[in-house]
Amino acid sequence: MNYSFFSKNPYHMILCKLFGHKYQVLRSYQTNKKEYECCKCRQQFTENDYGELQPLTPKLRRINEVMEKFYIFRHARQSA
Ligand SMILES: [Zn+2]
Repeated sequence: MNYSFFSKNPYHMILCKLFGHKYQVLRSYQTNKKEYECCKCRQQFTENDYGELQPLTPKLRRINEVMEKFYIFRHARQSA
């Protein structure tokens, strides 16, 4: 079964094309990276290195998670 088929509403996709996405923060990392979800079309986005939003892919989410792990690890060592 294709999950993305159900999560994306074509009508809302068109509205977003016309009026822009309505972002809400989905998840914020300690690395200051954030993931956003459009509450109309349910598309997900993350910030790239330039602070611009780009569509969130499983690969980008994985990078965000790995970066946060490194960040926590580094701070844990500094405070010890
Ligand atoms: Zn949208």
